[in-house]
Amino acid sequence: MIKNILSLAIALLSLSVYAQDALTSKLYETYEEFKEPSLGKRRIKHSDIQPLIQKVKANPKFEVQKVGESIQGRDLQLISVGTGSENIFLWSQMHGDEPTATQAIFDILHFLDAPDFKEEKEVILSQLKLHFLPMVNPDGAETFQRRNALGIDINRDALRLQSPEGQVLKRIRDSLDASFGFNLHDQSKYYNAKLTAKPATISYLATAYNYEKDINEVRANAMKVIVYMNKIIQNYAPGQVGRYSDDFEPRAFGDNIAKWGTSLILIESGGFTNDPEKQEIRKLNYVSILSALYTIAKGSYKDIPVEDYEKIPHNDRQLFDLKIENATYELLGKDYIIDLGIFRNEVDLNGHDDFYYRGSVGDQGDLSTFYGYETFDATGYKIVPPKLVTTSNITKPLALLKEGVAYVKTALPEKKAFTDAPLFLVDQDFELRPFGLWPGANPTFFLEKEGKLTHAVINGSLLDLSRPIEEQNFGNGLIYR
Ligand SMILES: [Zn+2]
Repeated sequence: MIKNILSLAIALLSLSVYAQDALTSKLYETYEEFKEPSLGKRRIKHSDIQPLIQKVKANPKFEVQKVGESIQGRDLQLISVGTGSENIFLWSQMHGDEPTATQAIFDILHFLDAPDFKEEKEVILSQLKLHFLPMVNPDGAETFQRRNALGIDINRDALRLQSPEGQVLKRIRDSLDASFGFNLHDQSKYYNAKLTAKPATISYLATAYNYEKDINEVRANAMKVIVYMNKIIQNYAPGQVGRYSDDFEPRAFGDNIAKWGTSLILIESGGFTNDPEKQEIRKLNYVSILSALYTIAKGSYKDIPVEDYEKIPHNDRQLFDLKIENATYELLGKDYIIDLGIFRNEVDLNGHDDFYYRGSVGDQGDLSTFYGYETFDATGYKIVPPKLVTTSNITKPLALLKEGVAYVKTALPEKKAFTDAPLFLVDQDFELRPFGLWPGANPTFFLEKEGKLTHAVINGSLLDLSRPIEEQNFGNGLIYR
């Protein structure tokens, strides 16, 4: 008899896990139906989300209340939905340049409003009351910067509470006394899952509430839900989840909110190959947060072994955009073998609604403990300095590159700082300085094998000279004036 009951219990448990996996894949497959189309780039501003919030406000399903203002007077609005007795608090973008989850929140709101997934939504919205505070730092978002208008990091203001944005966060946390809090951020795309070349596309943290990093029930619950979310992400980005450092930071919101009794789940959106605007990562936020809300509503996360949390690999920061291995670099007549780690840094355009790339050497030497989104084994290849020519014809850049030319004196387009051509366009006074590679230098050179130029590295992008440029993943050239 006991055996029968036991096997029945196991069958029911696996059935509920199965049902939940089915929900997750259905969420993934139908995502495009719920995606908010107006938020396709990372550089979004307060004015971009206002029309969306107004629409939500007009919808009787949701409550929208102004809960405060940023330093520069931008409204902070709390969107609530559900009739459950358990409060869940989700806030995003307290760092102005970390917008991925803000976008996902508007996708989740569309999902919650649509007629589909009736059963699952009934479970979520009858058990829970969800409270979303998107874009906590709208002044920072305006200039796509981490800090607020006071120049402080809101996430180091949980104790002193000088920022109105931080005061709002604290006040809402206290009034809701939420069981779970989702602290939604972006992290550098150069984080990887430790000892692997895989980017930490998503990193999680069940935030510690003391220096000892003790695990009480509140923290254990966050760990269990994270184990569940990790399992989901593994389906779509295998090996691409990291565990964020759990060092206690007494001034941070996550740490204090955990201390104040909310199970705190930090989600950091990192990098994903060929996803510069992080739209795939946004989708993973959507799928995993909704699935997490479902498991919280059902209480099924409670059966997850908390030890599994420790199995998620740590975050590390060992990635470059481009890693060139074993290249031969000649200096003062002698050859050396070096690896190069190259970044393609984003430079904002005026208005902060778009960007271009400016490459830099991040490190050079033995980089065998580092990885690249793109890696090129340059064994047997020699680094060749670029040449400068004067010409008015830049319509065939590949022909110039094949001649070893990367710098072109030509008539410059007005005001622009970059060009789509894989070249450096320079003015008449420009002089090419002696070539050298050094951390911080712009990585622009050629690779030669057996006396023939085969590749160009222009402003941090690698180009194969035997293939059309349009087919290759090139960023941009620069204009020097
Ligand atoms: Zn952040």
